[in-house]
Amino acid sequence: MGFILAIDQGTTGTTAALINDESLEFVSKVNHEFPQIYPEPGLVEHNLNDIWSTVEKTIPEVLKKANVSPEDISSIGITNQRETTCAFAKNGTPLANAIVWQDKRTHEFCLKNKDKEDMFKNKTGLPLDPYFSGTKIHWLLNNNDNVKEALSKDNLLFGTIDTFLLYKLSGNSSHATEPSNASRTLLMELNSTDWDSELLSFFNIDKKCLPEIKDSFCEFGKTSGLSFLPDGIPITGILGDQQSALFGQAGHHKGSIKCTYGTGSFMLLNIGDEVQYSKNGLLTTVGYRHNGKASYALEGSCFIAGAAVQWLRDNLQFFADSSEIEAQASSIKSLDNAKNILFLPFFSGLGSPYWKPEGKAAILGLSRDSGKAEISHACLEGISLSINDLLIAMKNDSGENIPEMRVDGGAVVNNLLMNLQATFSKTKIIRPLVIETTAYGAALAAAIGQGILNFDQIDSLWKEEATFESKADLETYCESKSNLWNDYINRLYLK
Ligand code: ADP
Repeated sequence: MGFILAIDQGTTGTTAALINDESLEFVSKVNHEFPQIYPEPGLVEHNLNDIWSTVEKTIPEVLKKANVSPEDISSIGITNQRETTCAFAKNGTPLANAIVWQDKRTHEFCLKNKDKEDMFKNKTGLPLDPYFSGTKIHWLLNNNDNVKEALSKDNLLFGTIDTFLLYKLSGNSSHATEPSNASRTLLMELNSTDWDSELLSFFNIDKKCLPEIKDSFCEFGKTSGLSFLPDGIPITGILGDQQSALFGQAGHHKGSIKCTYGTGSFMLLNIGDEVQYSKNGLLTTVGYRHNGKASYALEGSCFIAGAAVQWLRDNLQFFADSSEIEAQASSIKSLDNAKNILFLPFFSGLGSPYWKPEGKAAILGLSRDSGKAEISHACLEGISLSINDLLIAMKNDSGENIPEMRVDGGAVVNNLLMNLQATFSKTKIIRPLVIETTAYGAALAAAIGQGILNFDQIDSLWKEEATFESKADLETYCESKSNLWNDYINRLYLK
């Protein structure tokens, strides 16, 4: 018996997790955070050495915690914050801080090239936006002296975080990625799942600096020269974090849908092996590529979900811990006291399906008897109404009724939030036993790449913990709240 090591490299921290490679049960995990660097408003960077330090730290710690020997690791899966862009030398040394997905420094560049929007949408399924890696690579090539010098000396490698970690784990020998990450760069054409020469020349990027795009499940390389793991462990699965969560939710069937409720929320709908473009403000992305064949997904995101709860906790001191919001919101005297209050949680603008980056958050409809309980209740409603808008866009794009949705992420422990979601969306909400689905997805990816798991075995591994159905006693209330929500979204942001 051995263990799969899943490395989940996220925006705020790195998790190392162990999964039994026979039962595929989750065994243990360790997380360490690393510093966020904000050089100026709108700019967000990560020091790649800080990220690598968390990898060096979490792996030995999780092995120790689970009493597992490094020799018992049979394969490694990587999942990662997407779009964050790394430039490093061929000896693995970072040439610049990574430019994080949240970083807006390329906003002007994107505005200037608005007339190219259609080309980007048709080739990549994405809008030309600072969010995506191609614009960040372009910025590094034009503004960073280390990067310029490395290019002139044929010593420049680019990649997303998966690529950087793979390169380091493999002793600087494997420079590769896969389509769920590459589809977030604005450089990959969706049908071929390969770098596109027209897109590369638009950004003035030399293909030799980019990683090879391999299948998501395959041997990417083997560990070499590490102090904390023996040589020769194969890295056999890589997926971007949201696609990994979909995969960890057994979302490999056309029509599978999941929503992750973390700081923000991300919804992915598996649309099968044909590219489909959204008419409702969603992105088209690759879920994974297996044996040369891509599976595609529509993606919608709300920039703020659990972060609205953090705002009540940190800025208004409503409670000490996010978990307390459920009891506080449940203590409203009656729904009548809550019915007029609308919490529009757009602290970072409106994401899909509206795309209004300049929009601001608001709390409306307060009266003398409104208090913490009513505002907390409205906050949970605002989160679920934002997510309901994604679900409506998914239904409109797919032309399908979506009867159920799997959920994961830190906020799904909140039963009131889940009940509100089920009732607003008239959709069965299913919470799995393992809510660490991102790391779990990377472990499943590694198991497939290692050849110890087949696709048709995945369904039996996924287990439900709880389901939430539309609640009859909330339905009338939720319908009128939805109308109020739509009315205010129109009046405040869309006019
Ligand atoms: P991320 O991976 O984005 O850091 P997590 O999946 O760890 O996020 O989830 C953390 C988020 O969930 C925080 O924004 C927190 O406020 C929120 N959260 C945690 N517990 C609850 C709860 N019981 N009810 C609502 N939100 C919660």
